[in-house]
Amino acid sequence: MGERWRAVLKIGLPLGLAALLVLALWMGILHRAPPVQTTTRMLMGTLVSISTWGMTQGSSDRAVQRAFAEMDRIEEAMSWHRPTSEVSRINQVSRETWIPISAELGQLVQRGLVVSTQSGGAFSIGLEPLTTLWGFSTERVVTQPPAAEALRDWLQGYPSTDAIVLREGEDHAFQIYLKNRRVGLDLGSIGKGHAIDQAIAVLRQEGVTDAVVDAGGDLRILGSKGGVPWRIGLQDPRQPDQVVAVSLLKGDMAMATSGDYERFFIYEGRRYHHIMDPTTAAPAQSGLSSVSVQAANSTTANSLATAIFVLGPEKGLALLAHFPGSEVLMITEAGQPIRSPGFIGEWLDKPQP
Ligand code: ADP
Ligand code: MG
Repeated sequence: MGERWRAVLKIGLPLGLAALLVLALWMGILHRAPPVQTTTRMLMGTLVSISTWGMTQGSSDRAVQRAFAEMDRIEEAMSWHRPTSEVSRINQVSRETWIPISAELGQLVQRGLVVSTQSGGAFSIGLEPLTTLWGFSTERVVTQPPAAEALRDWLQGYPSTDAIVLREGEDHAFQIYLKNRRVGLDLGSIGKGHAIDQAIAVLRQEGVTDAVVDAGGDLRILGSKGGVPWRIGLQDPRQPDQVVAVSLLKGDMAMATSGDYERFFIYEGRRYHHIMDPTTAAPAQSGLSSVSVQAANSTTANSLATAIFVLGPEKGLALLAHFPGSEVLMITEAGQPIRSPGFIGEWLDKPQP
């Protein structure tokens, strides 16, 4: 008996010590580079967080700071609230003239116009005068709708076709034409998507293979967490601290959500939100409270989510068919999910915190 125990100890002890050593080393490595590193900043009027997986602190920080700088640059150029931005300068110029614009803005406007055309005008990046009337794009808190008279005036003057015309010369020399004063650039439904796509491009240049760029629920992912998908929770439109669906995403893809709960006020018992129906000059009433789109990139996901929110379920699904590879999960005002077959996500019958 005694002999046997001594033999067990003789082999067991070194083995145990070796195991402890391996464990200690492993934990040491983990300690130096936590697998997921997240940095959060306020940008474009929302909290933007960038997470990377499996990188050293130093190389993650470097890449993330460059990605944030890129998003800053885009906000500076494309915000219609900043008087010095390219977009503000265009909005200030008199109408019915051709204005030269940067290649970057030209290409983004081009993509916006495609969604506009396909949606029959329900989606438009030219609604700045209308959104300003409603006041959602300003800092001030809005508590009641604008005067009916002002809305009627806008509606009568808003051009139903060719509100924005883009012309492309050689070498992406773009010019833009705004038809009249009822038209002005508001990139609220597409600019954030572009900024996310550019942040992802910068992360890739920096050699990042696994990351999430999340701008207030609009996000794009790269890779995974060491083979484990990124877990994305979808907010309950009526109880924003609860999650109604969970998407496990891997690879390179984007997801964006438009909802009537992000910016809204209640006036005389009615909900007024920030997504406009250009045919009524009022918040869209399509029977939906939330629309999430998955697509190859954030620019597409962001703009399609807004467009489908305005169009409603049937026309929304028809629009989606023009954008292969895009999928949607809509939530009706009654809280029912309607999804396209390829949408990646599990609907939770009971919302979770
Ligand atoms: P969020 O910014 O809350 O994520 P969206 O991505 O849906 O929401 O964008 C909504 C913004 O888009 C509005 O705040 C406004 O600036 C602009 N917008 C409003 N109505 C429309 C519309 N019909 N088409 C395109 N853009 C719109
Ligand atoms: Mg959005």
